[in-house]
Parts: sequence; C-alpha cells; structure tokens
Amino acid sequence: MKEKYQVLLYYEFVPIEDHEQFAAEHLEFCKSLGLKGRILVSHNGINGTVSGTVDQTNAYMEKMHQDPRFKDIFFKIDEHDGHAFKKMHVRPREELVTLRLDDPVDPNELTGEYLKPKEFYEAMQDENTVILDTRNDYEYDVGHFRGAIRPDIHNFRELPEWVKENKHLIEGKRILTYCTGGIRCEKFTGWLIKEGFEDVAQLEGGIVTYGKDPEVKGKLWDGLCYVFDNRLTVPVNHTEHVVIGKDHFDGKPCERYVNCADPVCNKQILCSEENEHKYMRGCTDACRRSPNNLYVKEHQLSEEEIQRRLEVIEQEKQQA
Ligand SMILES: [Zn+2]
Repeated sequence: MKEKYQVLLYYEFVPIEDHEQFAAEHLEFCKSLGLKGRILVSHNGINGTVSGTVDQTNAYMEKMHQDPRFKDIFFKIDEHDGHAFKKMHVRPREELVTLRLDDPVDPNELTGEYLKPKEFYEAMQDENTVILDTRNDYEYDVGHFRGAIRPDIHNFRELPEWVKENKHLIEGKRILTYCTGGIRCEKFTGWLIKEGFEDVAQLEGGIVTYGKDPEVKGKLWDGLCYVFDNRLTVPVNHTEHVVIGKDHFDGKPCERYVNCADPVCNKQILCSEENEHKYMRGCTDACRRSPNNLYVKEHQLSEEEIQRRLEVIEQEKQQA
C-alpha cells in the first residue's frame, strides 16, 4: 500500500527572538524529520507550508505545539499522495506578509472581525455586504467566492493602492475579505480599518478551512483554490463544481495550469492539453519562438515542425 502524506498550512503572529538563528535551526529540524516545503520566519511570527508522511507531519505538529510560542498554532491539514514540494526552505524575513506600508499593521493589535465558515457563508448572502478577494488575479481566475470583487493585482503589495483607487466599490458596505489560509487578511483588514473602513470582517482560516467545514461544505465557492505548491489547485466546494477558469488560448472552460515553456517568461497559464501542443506551451508568439522553449526541447521538435505549428496559428489568427 502506498504511504499517505499530508500537506500542512499554518501561521502564527508571535515574537521570535533572533529569527535568523531560529530559521537556521528550524531548517535543520525540518530536514531531520524529512519534511519538504517553504517556511518564512520573521521577528513577529512564522508562516509555513510543508509536506511529509503522516508520521513526519504529525511529529512536526506535536513538537511545534510543545513550544510555548507555537502552542496555539492551527494547522490546516490536507491529505496527499506524496510530497507537494521539491525542497525544504526556511527563510528569515523582515515581514511575514509584505504590504510595504509606511506604518506596519500588527495583526495582534488591529485586525478585522473573524468569521467562522458558517458565519462567512451567511454574511456573504446579506445584501449589505461586499466580498473582496485579497489574492492575486491569477489566483482569482481559477476560483473564487461567487460575486467576489477581483482586485486587478499581481502581487499583494499592490492591494492598498488598488483599494485607494477603487474605494467606491466597497465604501458604505460591510466588507468581507478572504484569502487562501487567512494570513493576508489578518494584515489587510487591519490596514482597511486604519484607512477608515469601519465594518470589516475576514474569513478565519481562509478558503482552505472553509472547504473543510462539514456544515458549509464549500458552498458558494466556484472553481478551485489556487495553492502555492505542486498541487497548484485544490477543491473547495463539495456540493457542486462550477468551472470558471478559462483557457488562455481559446477561452474555453479550463482548470489545467501549465507554466509557459519560455523559461524567462515562466508565466502560469490555464490551457488544455490540446492547446499546449498546438501553441508549444508558449503564452505569446515570442515565447513560442524562444530559442530556449522547453516544450520544443522536451518534444524534440524539428525546425520544420516548429514552423508548421507557427503557420497554423498564424492562419487561424488571420481567419478570425
Ligand atoms: Zn510566456
């Protein structure tokens, strides 16, 4: 029988003295357990996602909970059939979540009201609320809460600026925010309150927790949830599955992520298997023609074959 693995997602805002030293020791500790993943450590907390066998990950959680600083950490646990990461990194950082504010918000001092999945589910259906996705455009595009606002951002740091320019979309309403595991909202809702928005609430534990709630069962979520590991996406709604992702090339419903084959671009795009072959996994004409195109190398395409495919694309473009 194949051994079962788990993927953990967690964070805690808590003072960590000499966080660089801590990071180095924590890396050795994680390696000794056989874990793989990515952990950020700052002077005010820890934010991580790791994978390992059930025994390895359980040992990690137990050990962490024995440390008084981390005794309250809530681990979101997903079952998986193998590691979700290639390597183990523990990186010291100045901030766990970077909003790059002039006056950094401390979530332990100021943050929005926490809503449990059931409370969030009910609040979403209230007429006087707006749902604001705090994630990036590419995360939103493969799945989000029904009716949620999509900030046009490619990085969390751009969110405050976006809000300032789009105040009219959320002003005067109760603002509900959500993100993957909850950490971005901890910081962002505090910032919203500082900016003068009064009624601000966040989904406690994020989308990942929402999808596991036995009562709500992920309802009102459309598509999949983007995650930052090899899985790329995980299911959330267990009552219905509405595909909202669209193929980068033909706009047809699609939930299959690939990386652009031009290593310099490497952009993540949704695309069917058929279109991956047709477009040689290049997101633009330049990426398809790149001398380093990985698809061309993997499939050992001849120069004639590349030209043939480029012509097919060109002809279709002219017909359209
Ligand atoms: Zn590209």
